[in-house]
Amino acid sequence: MKSDDANHWFSRAQRVMPGGVNSPVRAFGAVGGSPPFIDRAEGCHLFDTSGRRYVDYIGSWGPMILGHANAAVRAALASAIEGGTSFGTPCPPEVLLAEEIVARMPSIEMVRMVNSGTEATASAIRLARAATGRDRIVKFEGCYHGHVDALLAAAGSGVATLSLSDSPGIPRGAVESTIVVPFNDRDALRGAFERRGSDVAAVIVEPIAGNMGVVPPAPGFLEALREITAAHGSLLIFDEVMTGFRVGPAGGQGLYGIAPDLTTLGKIIGGGLPVGAYGGRADLMKQVAPCGPVYQAGTLSGNPLAMAAGLATLQQLDDDAYATLERASASLEAGLLRALERSGVTGIVQRAGSMLALFFSGRPVRCFKDAQATEARRFAAFFHAMLARGFHLPPSRFEAWFVSLAHTEEIIRATVAAAEDALAEIASSSKERDPRA
Ligand code: PMP
Repeated sequence: MKSDDANHWFSRAQRVMPGGVNSPVRAFGAVGGSPPFIDRAEGCHLFDTSGRRYVDYIGSWGPMILGHANAAVRAALASAIEGGTSFGTPCPPEVLLAEEIVARMPSIEMVRMVNSGTEATASAIRLARAATGRDRIVKFEGCYHGHVDALLAAAGSGVATLSLSDSPGIPRGAVESTIVVPFNDRDALRGAFERRGSDVAAVIVEPIAGNMGVVPPAPGFLEALREITAAHGSLLIFDEVMTGFRVGPAGGQGLYGIAPDLTTLGKIIGGGLPVGAYGGRADLMKQVAPCGPVYQAGTLSGNPLAMAAGLATLQQLDDDAYATLERASASLEAGLLRALERSGVTGIVQRAGSMLALFFSGRPVRCFKDAQATEARRFAAFFHAMLARGFHLPPSRFEAWFVSLAHTEEIIRATVAAAEDALAEIASSSKERDPRA
């Protein structure tokens, strides 16, 4: 066995790390097989330990909107690193990044940097509970907000008010204040508020769901959230860890013209380094320590390297950048739809800006149940057919593909051609198994 072989690394990894990975989906559990181990990345490409090149649609799960190893990000990091890697005292880059965020997202008047999206959502719900003096949180089925105890709740057998946790190790008390409602279901939300509205501290939502493929909000859904929360004195938290600065210059809230009370961010604002943030109305943010009594802290929060990478990333995201991303993503969507049609494989594409999902389904996916009803085995076959052709999609039908500024029209054309070929292959192999298919 060659020491640069992915199987070699994966078996070594499995001996010393649970599942061989540091985040579950990377282990290929949903699609089978072994993940390539990546040595380096540049532009829209990943290079594995055997020197194989892949066109990357994972984009580190969202941060790499400029593409990998972007020159300006590298230069900013190189110059930051000369001055040391962490101070644990205030430093100018954290102010510069905070100013950039506040300038771009009108609903954010003040912001606190943390180190991950999970930390951002955990802190935002603590603040919402403190500010309202209430405990209950409403979340939507299929939305993921990091591995926060209270947010790892699933709807239990139709009983929307008493939730079950999605993982062992979470005390019942941590999820019993969480109400889970189907995404895009205004009536269910109204019902939950009629029963419990005066106990609800906040509704947390991905304005465009990106953790069950890509599921945009139905017309009027986000407006209803804004109206219902305001009417009941509850806060509205937009979890824009994925959509923030991804789907447009002011994230999902800019796209749909809704101002949440609090917003959580991550991914792009760290330019590929570990960062999260939460921010919003100044009167709320002033309740965070040391301004107010809501405790939240972090040894590495506002880390100068992370701030430099985030700032260098945001500074390149101007209107032209979003227009370029939109063109590339729209042409990928159109090309995939053409490829589906030509291959005769039933499928749909759902897209919001440069986030996209291909579902093997004959009808639109509007909620988690719809996403679960799509064909998992077909997705796995398509994933592997694409990987074999040098295109690394996210290894799960519930994950979004991310297009970056490094995905040129030529790369998009090559992706579409590979998809057409891959779809033809899976169409013919399913006919072999079942001649009636
Ligand atoms: N919120 C959303 C919407 C996310 O997509 C994610 C991660 N994919 C998180 C929160 C958690 O972020 P992290 O993995 O940085 O903890």
